[in-house]
Amino acid sequence: MSVSAVAADRSVCAPLPVLGRDVLVPLVTGGEVDYAALDYAASAPALQRVWDDVAAYAPYYGSVHRGAGYLSQLSTDLFENSRATIAKFLGCGRREGDQVVFTRSTTDSLNLLAAVLPQNTRVFVFETEHHASLLPWEQRPDTAVTYLNAPRTPQQAVDTLEKALAEREPYGPALVCVTGASNVTGELWPVRELAAAAHAHGARIVLDAAQLAPHHPVDIAELDVDWVAFSGHKLYAPFGAGVLAGRADWLQAAEPYLAGGGASRKVSRRTDGGVDVEWHTTAARHEAGSPNVIGAYAIASACQALTEAGFDGLVAREQELIARVREGLAEVPEVNVLSLFGDDAPRVGVLSFVVEGWNSSHFAAALSAEYGIGVRDGLFCAHPLVRTLLGSEPQEPGECGAPETAPGERSLNAIRVSFGAGTPDEHVERFVRAVKELVADGARWNYRTEDGRCVPDTSA
Ligand code: PMP
Repeated sequence: MSVSAVAADRSVCAPLPVLGRDVLVPLVTGGEVDYAALDYAASAPALQRVWDDVAAYAPYYGSVHRGAGYLSQLSTDLFENSRATIAKFLGCGRREGDQVVFTRSTTDSLNLLAAVLPQNTRVFVFETEHHASLLPWEQRPDTAVTYLNAPRTPQQAVDTLEKALAEREPYGPALVCVTGASNVTGELWPVRELAAAAHAHGARIVLDAAQLAPHHPVDIAELDVDWVAFSGHKLYAPFGAGVLAGRADWLQAAEPYLAGGGASRKVSRRTDGGVDVEWHTTAARHEAGSPNVIGAYAIASACQALTEAGFDGLVAREQELIARVREGLAEVPEVNVLSLFGDDAPRVGVLSFVVEGWNSSHFAAALSAEYGIGVRDGLFCAHPLVRTLLGSEPQEPGECGAPETAPGERSLNAIRVSFGAGTPDEHVERFVRAVKELVADGARWNYRTEDGRCVPDTSA
């Protein structure tokens, strides 16, 4: 959607209040500026609402599931109600037997799922995945993993998966793992179609919604995926919790992820001296140890805040910001935006690019030091994807003090800008202006490498 079309759309939301919006950071060139957090894809700022909810609960904080006291019971209710809120947010419950398991993060959720796969499961995963969804499967020696080549259109993704599934039939249990929105390009993957292909061949599918859930409603029943994994800290709820939601059967048939209290229902000594354990058959089976009640509550609060703000308005506003950034970058011929599916692909507010003649670390350091803008540079834990997009081979990261790539040469890493529900217009406007100025005039400061990071050289 063009900027003007979105501006005319009255359903566009105002930015949601987030923490850190008034934080001033020093500029190397002198003075201070309010920090432009444009690294939402790594960790989004906390929603003010989430922070306030957590602060209001904090005095009542108590042990969960174990205490007889009033605050323990209140905390237990809060924890279980949070589970119910998140289940509703994800559309669980419309399908029989879905469960919400609290984890530490998306990485933890996908490792949990890898740990509970039935024996000899066949896994299908695109090489373009984030390492969190690419790597857990081979941890199990009995799991056969098929890595699928990067598709160049959403339809090619579906065709590639269809073909791979069909070629390997017959197989026993099978799982497809796919990301909803790329943490590199922001592009949306055809989740519903991939789910249909998986199911048509008797496979199940897990959706890595780490980058999708903060930007779009994720309805597990409507997308017809078997599991969804996401992280609180990308969903404006940075208190160390994540979620794996979906079908209970594989989870309940497997040994607990962690053995310990909370997961066990009954433990007794056997006459032969050993120990017998009856494990829970609820989500608690994989939540051994004292649960992160604040993390769970923060996620539930974020789900509620996003739902109340209305995804339609949030999406419309984000599309406006995306259009501004893309239109601004398109005016700079030296900027090459990375894309798998092309300009017309639907996307979220995550965009990676390289600048001809610039080392990406140097560019990102200058955005920070000279403009107070926080972006990310690197390969974004998706090395195969970024290398495919850059057309580069694996190599050690280079120094950043001087641009290591001559004009016309390929960069070895990329710069990522990402934003969301709390981003004001000024942040993306400043970003576009900064890119234009840096490309036209160069950095105003010298930079050097310190502990592997590019930093302004203040030694002179
Ligand atoms: N999947 C995707 C698509 C991601 O972007 C990320 C985080 N960058 C992860 C998984 C892992 O999330 P976490 O670090 O919270 O476990």
